Amino acid sequence: TRQFTRPLNDLSNEFNTLLAAVAGAERVFDILDEDEEIKDEKDAAPLPDVKGEVEFQHVSFAYEKGNDTLKDVSFKAAPGQTVALVGPTGAGKTTIINLLSRFYDVNSGKILIDGYDMSEVTRDSLRQQMGFVLQDAFLFQGTVRENIRYGRLDATDEEIEEAAKLANAYSFIMKLPKQFDTMLKRDGSSISQGQKQLLSIARAFLAKPAILILDEATSNIDTITEIKIQEAMRRLMKGRTSFVIAHRLNTIQQADQIMVVDDGQIIESGTHDSLLREKGAYFDLYHSQSRDNHEGLN
Ligand code: ADP
Repeated sequence: TRQFTRPLNDLSNEFNTLLAAVAGAERVFDILDEDEEIKDEKDAAPLPDVKGEVEFQHVSFAYEKGNDTLKDVSFKAAPGQTVALVGPTGAGKTTIINLLSRFYDVNSGKILIDGYDMSEVTRDSLRQQMGFVLQDAFLFQGTVRENIRYGRLDATDEEIEEAAKLANAYSFIMKLPKQFDTMLKRDGSSISQGQKQLLSIARAFLAKPAILILDEATSNIDTITEIKIQEAMRRLMKGRTSFVIAHRLNTIQQADQIMVVDDGQIIESGTHDSLLREKGAYFDLYHSQSRDNHEGLN
């Protein structure tokens, strides 16, 4: 059995913020089995509170020996910046996020957070400063209030309501049979896909991470909820270094950096306007997507 499955079935005993982040990410990123899970270095120290500067220095990585998935990837994101990752399926976008979340260790090169080499800090302390808002939001059987509180266990009811308001979740919660005391099913089937995302955004508001990983849901979301999600995400991303696996053009246009990933390399990076002027891969992607009437970018 996997390390994360058991506690998630028994949350009253194992009520731990970090696990929420890890478990949420685990599902989407299709992570390792426990025995393959990377371990902290013996002398690893906790990562101090960071501003959120992220730097990849010549990072290469292979899931299987001799078959490099990422090849010499370098970039730097200043604290508070939004970085959008675009490119075809299989290009390596998720792998970049997997390494940044330290689900795998790099084979060569370095990842620095505020100048700290990620391989020298404890994984828990790293993930405590990261928030995940993913396609498949992680919910457990419990009330709406408990599900939001998972972002920060000492949060007061007032803070939870405030986070729900910031996440544009408050109005739908107030329409539920018992508002914040409504029980959610473990699979989240009692609320919609979009509403689940709003709850995970509320959770992230409570957790206040310096670094955010966003992978927006693309299907089964009505237009009104979609707008609410977009707006709440923008608010959440403000002042945090945010990495967005981009599916929609509107998220991308406002990004400080767009990185076009192809075959394990960053083949272009810049802003929406600068990349359109270059008339390269992004230009082509953008125009093919416009033609396809805003279908997914990857
Ligand atoms: P993207 O997110 O851009 O679609 P990924 O980072 O998921 O791309 O995948 C990059 C490449 O790595 C693909 O060729 C994919 O098949 C491969 N890959 C992804 N995850 C694994 C894994 N766990 N084991 C082996 N290969 C993988």
